[in-house]
Order: sequence, then structure tokens, then C-alpha cells
Amino acid sequence: TSTGASTDALVRSMANGLSSKMTNASERVQIINDQKEFTQELTSQIERWGLRDAGFDYNIVAVFGSQSTGKSTLLNRLFGTTFDVMDETKRQQTTKGIWMCRGKDTNIMVMDVEGTDGRERGEDQDFERKSALFSLASSEVLIINLWEHQVGLYQGANMGLLKTVFEVNLGLFGKKAQDKTSGRTMLLFVIRDHIGTAPLANLQTTLTLDLQKIWDSLSKPSELQDRQLSDYFDLAFTALPHKILAADQFEKETQILRGRFVDKTNSEFVFKPVYHKRIPADGVAFYMENIWEQVQSNKDLDLPTQQELLAQFRCDEISAVALAEFNEQAKPQKRPIESGKVVEGLGGMMRSWRTMALERYDRDASRYHQGVYKRKRADLIASLDATLTPLFLGQLKNLHKACLGTFKKDILEGLKGEEYNFADVVNKAKAKCENKFVEAAKESVVDDSEEGKADWNWEEELVLLKEEVKSVADQCRKDETKKMVNAIERNFKKQISEPVELALNKGSPNMWDLVLKAFRDTLDKAESTYLSKATSFNCTDDENSHSVAALRLRAWQALRAKIDEQTSDSVFVGRLRSHFEERFRYDEQGVPRVWKPEDDIDGAFKKAKEQTLELIPLYAKIAPVDSSIAYTLPLDAVALSDNSGSANDDPFDFEASLVVLTETKALDLAAKFRKDADLAYVEAKRSTVSSVAQ
Ligand code: GDP
Ligand code: MG
Repeated sequence: TSTGASTDALVRSMANGLSSKMTNASERVQIINDQKEFTQELTSQIERWGLRDAGFDYNIVAVFGSQSTGKSTLLNRLFGTTFDVMDETKRQQTTKGIWMCRGKDTNIMVMDVEGTDGRERGEDQDFERKSALFSLASSEVLIINLWEHQVGLYQGANMGLLKTVFEVNLGLFGKKAQDKTSGRTMLLFVIRDHIGTAPLANLQTTLTLDLQKIWDSLSKPSELQDRQLSDYFDLAFTALPHKILAADQFEKETQILRGRFVDKTNSEFVFKPVYHKRIPADGVAFYMENIWEQVQSNKDLDLPTQQELLAQFRCDEISAVALAEFNEQAKPQKRPIESGKVVEGLGGMMRSWRTMALERYDRDASRYHQGVYKRKRADLIASLDATLTPLFLGQLKNLHKACLGTFKKDILEGLKGEEYNFADVVNKAKAKCENKFVEAAKESVVDDSEEGKADWNWEEELVLLKEEVKSVADQCRKDETKKMVNAIERNFKKQISEPVELALNKGSPNMWDLVLKAFRDTLDKAESTYLSKATSFNCTDDENSHSVAALRLRAWQALRAKIDEQTSDSVFVGRLRSHFEERFRYDEQGVPRVWKPEDDIDGAFKKAKEQTLELIPLYAKIAPVDSSIAYTLPLDAVALSDNSGSANDDPFDFEASLVVLTETKALDLAAKFRKDADLAYVEAKRSTVSSVAQ
């Protein structure tokens, strides 16, 4: 099955990984070749050795000494390394250069420095000086390997080498040594083929005296005149028996010496913390390469500058890795935000990406030069926030939209039934909307500490939201108010209809008093209905007086419409006719008249006609008998009608609206009526003639 296959593959790759690790540990690398070129492999080699993440938990040791003094042999014995050893049968010189190996089962990087005896061989001393600089800038312990018989040969090659070491050391650490916490190096003298006739103590004294002589003979810069050898170096001495003549002893002693390198509890443990050059393991390769470059170009080797350069390079690298990981995580959330979605828990996610990136950066970068580390950290934060801020702002914008949408929906829902308090509905929806926004906005804030400079402000968006909520609420209130005014108006029309019809039908002299009384009563009721309902609307006084004015205007217009309806040509002529007929065709008791020839038809006709014509001026204008009941439309209501129509419209003329029938209209109606009346007269005459004829 496929799972089986993939498990096999996994096991295989694990096995590969294991075995490669085991072989990688003993790999060696020539970091500087005989062309004095620095290798490009060191970074990956350190990684293959498994030391990349060791931080400061590693050590570097280098060996110095004449050609063929058994240096490589010693290192291989001490550290289980695999440096080339001269083949006895060929007696062929190994090439110049510096090799490096990881010590077996230890975090020690061991440097085998070859060709440091150019003096002896009469070659140029260029490489000797460069490799001394290079080794001192990076190693904690320098093993000085020499034959017993070389001790005391002050003019010998070793002494020249040591003089070089001291000189370059002054250049590197000259000013630094004062605090005694850094810039120190251990010189461990290993005396080979020690036969024992001269005890180690004597050899040590001789060597120390020689070293002091060399030190005193150095031409030191004036500000360093008083510096002692011990300000920069700790000296240690040990001797090893002859490798071939005392093979067992040799093995035993090298194992004891090994203890001083690998066992931290050993009282003679060589790697004291003050010797450490404080280069994090993941920066060693870059650091060494730069040192070598400086050395090669014969520039002044300024270690603080080197450390800062290293820090800049590494902090940039580490930051880039952290940023790449961060971007991977942030990427999937970009699209939803851009498409208008509110991403649930976005703040939590953003905080965690950011924290992870910074933790990752801090873990690796905090070991480097603090100034650089902090500066690059601020840069990283700025980059992180440059990605996060648009997400944050997008989220706020989407949140704003969503909350406003919910607000509108809630209001619509709340205003559905009959029984609701408008102000309650609006206030509840508003509170819900704003709370939701504030809660989610706070969640989306990434960092409100002083750490970053990004602006995680959501209050401004809230202000915008509140403004929009208010304008929606205002619009709703206006709509609601309109709805209510319309309902009240409909009701008004219904209520005014009957009393107006009744009063106008009668045509009594005080009919306008009745009409206006009914109008005033009904309007008063309508107004108080409005005001009692409007309290729940949170309307402003202005809005209320506007609504009341509108109500008054529309009430008046409704009344006028009703009056027009009741005084339209057909209705009005009909009314006149029936008024006339009641007087002409019926007697005082309401009994229909049967005209006889002797009856005064002409007189009755004239009287009824005149009485009827008197009605026309009564209807022509709304004019109550009792002047106290006369109604005048308030000015604000009049003003409303002004701006309701188009600009060319004449303003509402209330006085004109009191006129029901114009003069021409009145004449026209009178003429129409006269025709009807005349017909009735003719008919009455004819009826008497026919009754005589029978
Ligand atoms: P290097 O050039 O200093 O690295 O010296 P090598 O380790 O290549 O050794 C040079 C020669 O010295 C080899 O033939 C070794 O076998 C031999 N040798 C190594 N250690 C000793 C020692 O302690 N005493 C003696 N007499 N010879 C040694
Ligand atoms: Mg060698």
C-alpha cells in the first residue's frame, strides 16, 4: 500500500540521515588552501558537524609549530580528528594551509595550521604572520608544539614564531586586555619527545624566561608600553614522552591531556570562558572568512568592527528567515481580508505569528553584537508590522461594514411588528453594533506596547462607524415619523369626512362654523396623537414642530379636498336642485303639490328660486358666522408648502384657499341651476294645462 511505501521511504531517509551524520562528524575541511584562499564550504560543514545551533557552546583550538614535529599526530590523538600525517616512507612535506575538524564527541573545532615554519625553511614569513593573526582572532587555546631539544634555542624558529604571535596579538587585543574579561588567549606549550633528564619545571622556567625576553624586546606602541605578557596570555606547559620509544606512556599522557580539553570538571580545564571570542557558532564561518579577507588585504584587523560586521550580516540573515516564515503564515489571511471578510480571531493569529518571528530572531540573533541585534530587531518589527497593519486596517474596515449591516438588519427586524418602541429598538441595535465593533477591534490589535511604531488605533474607525450609525438611525426616524404622520393623516381624513358632508349638505347659515369646529377638534386630536407617539422617537424639537406643521398643512389640504368634493359641479348643482324642489314642489308640510290653474305658480317659483340662489354665496367662501371660530393656517405650515413644490410654483395662498367658488364659477353654477329651475317651472305649468284638459 501507499502508506507502507511511504513508511519505508521514511525509514530509509532516517537511516541515511543517521549514517551521514556519523560520517559527517569526522569530515575535515581545508579552510585556507595553499593559494591562501578561504573555503566556501565552512558554513555547510559546520552545519554537517551539527554545530550550527550550538550558540556559544563550542570551543576552538589551533596548533602552531615547526613542520614535522608531530602536530597532526597529536591532534588526531587528542581529539579523534583525521588530519593528514606525514607518511614516514615518503617523507613528503604536507602542503601549506589551515585544516579544520570537529573533535570526536566534543564541540571542539580543531585547526591544524601547517607551514608556520617559513623562517626555518627560509621562505617568506607572510603566511606565518597571517595564520597567527587568523588563529588568535578565533581560537581560545593555541597549542605551541615543539621538541624538547628546541627549548632554550632562543634564536630558533619557534621564538621567531612566538614574537610574531605576540606582535599581532597586541594589534588585535592591545586596548582590550585591561578588563581581563576578554581578548585573552591560552598558550599551551606541548614539549614532545620529553625524555625526562630535564624535568618539566626546568623546561618551563627556560621557556618562560625566553618568552619574557621576547615580550620585552617587542616594540610596543607608546600607550601600551606598560602592558605585561600576562595581561594577554595565560601560559601552560606540558610534556609528552617519545611516541615510538615510549609508546604506552605516550598514549597514556595524551589521554590525560585530552581530559584537560573535554572535561569541564577537570581542575586544569583549558577552555576558560574569558578565552572565548563570543562568536555564535552559526556565525563562525562568516566571521573567519571576513577575518581572513582583512588579513589577506593587509588591512588593520579591528575585531570590534569585525564583530559588528558579522552581527549585521547574521542578524540580516536570521531576520530574513524569520520574516519568510512569518510571511508564509500571514499570506493565507490576505485574500479574505481583501475580499471584505471579518477574519475571526485575526488578532490572536497575528500576535502569534509576530511573537514566533521575534522569538526565532531573538533566539539566534541575540548572541550577536547587542547594538546591531537591537537595531535589526527594530527593523524586523517594522517589516512585520508593515504586513500586519494592512490586515488590521482591512479587518477594521470589514468590521465596520459588517457591524453597520447588522445594525440595519436589527432595526428592520425590530420595527416589524405593531408593538415596538422606536427609541428602544434603535438604542439596543446601536449598543450591540458598537460593542461588537469595539470587542472585535480590540481583539485585532497586535501590539499596544511601545515596542513597535505601528499605529494600532481603532478609535477613529469607531467614530466613523458611530457617525454612520447615527445617520442611518436618523433616516429611520424620519421614515418612521413620516409613516406615522401619514397614518394620522389617513385617520384624520376618515374622521373629518362625515361631519363635513353633514354640515355641507344642510346648507344652514352656520355650516362653516360646524365644518371648522369639526376640523379643529379632529386636528387637535391628531396633533396630540402625534406628540404622544413621537416621544419614543427621540425626535428633536425642530423635527417635531416640522412634523406638526406638516400635519396641519396636510389636514387643511384634506379638508379642502373634501370641500371640493362636496362642491363639485354635479354635486353642487344637484344640491341646489333638491333645495329648490323642496321649496317649489312640496308645500310647508312636505306634501307634493298638485298645481291648479288658480295657484300662484309664478310667485312660488320666484320665491323658491331666490331662496336657492342665496345658497351660492354661502358656499362660495369658508366664512363662519362666529368669527372666533375662524381658522388660519399657522405660518410654519404655510411655509412648508412653499418649498415642497417646484421653484416656479406660487406659494400657498391660504386666503385664496378659503374661496370655494370663484365668482365666475358661482355665475356658471347659477346659470346651470336656472336652467333646471326653468324646466321645473315649465313642467309645473304644463301639468295644470293637462289637468284642465282632462
Ligand atoms: P606535523 O607536520 O607536525 O603535522 O607532523 P606529523 O604529525 O605529520 O608527523 C611527522 C612525523 O613525525 C610522522 O612520521 C610521525 O609518525 C612522527 N611523529 C609523530 N609524533 C611523534 C612523536 O611524538 N615523536 C616522534 N619522534 N615522532 C613523531
Ligand atoms: Mg601536519
